[in-house]
Order: sequence, then structure tokens, then C-alpha cells
Amino acid sequence: MEVYFYLEGIEKLVAKLKGTENIYVGIRPYGFHAGNMSTLVAYPILLCREMVRQGKKPKFNIYLFINDWEQEKLDGINPHIYPFNVLPRHTTWQFIPDPIDKRFSIVDFWEPVIVNYMNFIKYYYPSVSLKTIRNSAMKTHPSMKKYLLKTLKNPKILLKIFQEYGKKPTLDKAIYASAVCPKCKAARGNTNVLHKDYIVHSCSYCHRESAGDYESFEYWFYHKPLALPRIEAYKIDLNITCCDKYKENDHLIKQQLTKAYGMITPLPKILYTPVILGMNNKIMGKSKGNAINVGLDKLVQLLEDNPKAETIRISRLI
Ligand SMILES: [Zn+2]
Repeated sequence: MEVYFYLEGIEKLVAKLKGTENIYVGIRPYGFHAGNMSTLVAYPILLCREMVRQGKKPKFNIYLFINDWEQEKLDGINPHIYPFNVLPRHTTWQFIPDPIDKRFSIVDFWEPVIVNYMNFIKYYYPSVSLKTIRNSAMKTHPSMKKYLLKTLKNPKILLKIFQEYGKKPTLDKAIYASAVCPKCKAARGNTNVLHKDYIVHSCSYCHRESAGDYESFEYWFYHKPLALPRIEAYKIDLNITCCDKYKENDHLIKQQLTKAYGMITPLPKILYTPVILGMNNKIMGKSKGNAINVGLDKLVQLLEDNPKAETIRISRLI
């Protein structure tokens, strides 16, 4: 697995690209701030711009993975100290209504907003294609089904890897996937896999017992193993992601997950983008109360002014 960092890594990376690679970016579907803009819009544009500079035509296939199977709110003993022992507090983004009008879904609102921002890439480089894929839409894909069932059946495989390679302490008990209760939509309870792909779920919220085929449920799926079916299903060549993941040893964990799950598809190259800090000097995040938007031109300028920086602070509204 080859890793590249920031703007200064793009030149070396582009020298190895043909222009037709499959690129993976991902986001949780509830907002879009300067940190998202850096990884999902500015960096792909800077990558394409360097392709042109090196005399190659960018015709990348960009896959935008929308993580609607992620927990809406984190729960666990202490998600900050034990990030590998987390659970959804209640449900996943898939079941969260739009706060403006609850008849609508929050994912249906944010997905086109995110795609609109990403269409800036196609404005400058029209031969690039952009495809949006929700986790829930991948449910019946054989790769998703295979990795999700493996994770439901044997969370200990992951736990062992996190204990060995993660940079944070890990408790002995953890699960990394759960069915969603069909009645109350809670992703909390016990999910058992019987006879290959028959699911029995008992909900710890409403205490309903549900049973059925894999396909008859929706799921919560922890984000780290979730990368594997995406990479396998879409033959991903390059992942563009924020470098805070690198600091968590995410690349080493993915290598170990690949081995443990027996994935044959090679892991993609990774281009790490800088961490964008908000005005309070903390990592910009939708849940941290410091998310702001800036103009794409101003953001690109900031990235160009700091080609080797691990963190870039948005010090004022621009
Ligand atoms: Zn329930």
C-alpha cells in the first residue's frame, strides 16, 4: 500500500497514475464544511490539475460513498478514550428525518448538496465521472453481504487487530455491526447469524425479537471494516482521505483487516489531505460546533500556501 501526503505528495502520485483510476471518497450525510470541501472537492481538483500539468487526461471514476449506516450519535464507555468500543446511541443516519420537515429524510437532503459541491470537479475536468453510493444501496452486493456477515459473526477478529495496531486502548468487549430493529429502528441489541445468512435480532430498546433473511434487515456497520466491501466491489485504486486517519494507524489496521478477512483485492494507494482546523483550533467537525464553509478558490489558495502542512487553520471567515 502506497501512501502520499498533502499537496507535495500529489506530484509523485500523479506520475504513477494513468488517469482512468477508480477513486474512493466518503462522507457522513449530514452537512458539508471546509474540511469536507478540502478532501472531497479541492484535492480531487488539485490532483486533476497536476495530471494536466504532467500531460495526462484526468478521466477518473470518483465514487462518493455516503455512510448512511453510521450511527447518528456515538455511545459506548467513552468514545474518545475507547474509539474501538463504540456503539450507536440509538439509530443510524438512514432513519433520521430532515430536521426542517420530518416527512423527509436527512440523507435525501444532504446527498444532492454534497454532489453539487463535488460537481465543481466536473466543471473543470468534464471527463471525470462521479457516482454516489449509499451503504444501504450496497446491502445486496455480494461483497457487502460477505464482509458484514463475517463482522456480525466474529467481532473478535476486529477487536484483536484494534488491540494490536490501534493507537488507543481497547476494551475486551465490542461489536462492529448490528441489525436495525424493524419496529423502533434502534441499532442496539443482539444480532445472531444462523444457517449462513439467517438473522435473529433482539432489540434492547423495545425488546422485539425479529428474524429473517439478511436482506430483510438494515444495519449499523462500523466504518473501518466497511472500507473493505467498497474497495472490493468497485476495484478502488486510490483513496483520498484526511490524515487524522493516518495518525490513528488506519492504514496498518486496513492491511490487517484485509489479511484477516481474506480479501484478495489489493488495497488502494492513499492520498492524505491535511486536517482542517476551525476557528477554535480544533479539528473541524459537524459535531464540534466549529464547522464553517469557505469559498473553493480561497480554500485552494490556503492549501497551496501550505503544501506540506499537516494541519491548516481556517482563522477567519473567507
Ligand atoms: Zn426495537
